[in-house]
Amino acid sequence: MAGKQRVVLFLLFAFLLPHLGYSWGFFAHQRINRLAVFTLPPEMIGFYKKHIRYITENAVNPDRRRYAVEWEAPRHYIDLDVYGDSALYKMPRFWQQAVELYTEDTLQAYGIVPWHISLMKYQLTQAFKERDLDRILRLSTEMGHYVADACVPLHTTQNYNGQFTGQRGIHGFWESRLPELFSGNYDFFVGQAQYIEQPQLRAWDLVASAHTGLDSVLYFEKQLTQAFDEEKKYSFEVRNSLTTRVYSRAFSEAYSDKLNGQVERQMRLAIRTIASYWYTAWVDAGQPDLSTYPKVLTAEEQQRLEMEKKEYEAGPHKPREEGDN
Ligand SMILES: [Zn+2]
Repeated sequence: MAGKQRVVLFLLFAFLLPHLGYSWGFFAHQRINRLAVFTLPPEMIGFYKKHIRYITENAVNPDRRRYAVEWEAPRHYIDLDVYGDSALYKMPRFWQQAVELYTEDTLQAYGIVPWHISLMKYQLTQAFKERDLDRILRLSTEMGHYVADACVPLHTTQNYNGQFTGQRGIHGFWESRLPELFSGNYDFFVGQAQYIEQPQLRAWDLVASAHTGLDSVLYFEKQLTQAFDEEKKYSFEVRNSLTTRVYSRAFSEAYSDKLNGQVERQMRLAIRTIASYWYTAWVDAGQPDLSTYPKVLTAEEQQRLEMEKKEYEAGPHKPREEGDN
């Protein structure tokens, strides 16, 4: 093939290749879960530190699973705008009341993240009572994932990837590209985990905080797109030996400046809240002495993790569009 044709074809493919995006990106999810461990009180920190590798590496399992298991996806988001303008204030905070008002099918169709977080908090409390290491680790880790997702503005809207406003790709931009570029400079000292008096309502506080930031997320990107030429907005990077189109550094910096610390604030909120949920579950279980708990996962659980990993590697991962949440 002639050189020029080849370049054209190559560029075409580069544009068609999906930018592999996940909620918060693998990078941010792992970072958030890991940092949450360090905010725990002395009675808990030793136990969680011992398992910090598990808690970090498996932080992304819910995203890996969502392409294989149908019930997984709705746990990661809630499309609040489906329920009208003041949905944030009007939605029933408790699952039973929400089901009565909207039916379970509707809730599952538009996402259940806040209710799922409170269910997990309940399950984690039970696991602590039962001294069940497998479940303590799994629930702590995966709850960290959902709490972090609930802090992402684009996880609270049907327009989750800017697909209705000509901003396709914004999802991965906000939650993967920005943290990858700039989180080295974020301040992750968030203080100690705090007891949560009303776990069900706290999950809604996260959603509220995320949803309140949604207008800025969309508006500033649109504003900057008008100010930037197309070729300055994007650049190319080689990732996993594939050339991928990414938002350029200059565009990312300008966006990050406009957002004025929003990504950092939401990451900090996630870290603090995850640890607080872990702490609350442990307190509600009667503050058990964790040094007397089993130290290694059961053979069954190790096997289950292996299987889940293999299933993910074998696919199917498609279809997945750019920045799919
Ligand atoms: Zn997710």
